[in-house]
Amino acid sequence: MNYDVIFIGSGHATWHAAVALKQAGKQVAIVEKDLVGGTCTNYGCDAKIALDGPFQLTEQLQRFQGHGVNSVPTIDWPA
Ligand SMILES: Cc1cc2nc3c(=O)[nH]c(=O)nc-3n(C[C@H](O)[C@H](O)[C@H](O)COP(=O)(O)OP(=O)(O)OC[C@H]3O[C@@H](n4cnc5c(N)ncnc54)[C@H](O)[C@@H]3O)c2cc1C
Repeated sequence: MNYDVIFIGSGHATWHAAVALKQAGKQVAIVEKDLVGGTCTNYGCDAKIALDGPFQLTEQLQRFQGHGVNSVPTIDWPA
């Protein structure tokens, strides 16, 4: 198989370029040494949002305890 472009890594940078090239009719290959999707999808943005979101929420609720908020949920971090 011949390729017009071979990307090393499958993060956001590759994604945007590879999709555009594929839509333009080019043969594209991607070589990934770890998880497909790169840092943002697997270790960065999404992971941060999943960890940070519940923390921010419970921290805000704690500030309102005694002002109408009676209980603050605990976070099951392993889950
Ligand atoms: C904790 C954290 C939180 C973040 N939060 C945000 C956010 O909220 N919003 C935001 O916009 N950005 C965020 N970022 C930044 C975002 O993750 C990066 O800007 C983005 O992932 C960069 O994309 P990229 O394609 O350049 O590189 P990457 O996504 O890092 O992809 C590079 C890929 O190349 C692979 N690779 C490297 N060397 C080789 C090799 N020799 N052979 C094969 N594969 C190889 C790697 O395994 C990896 O999958 C965050 C980053 C981190 C660490």
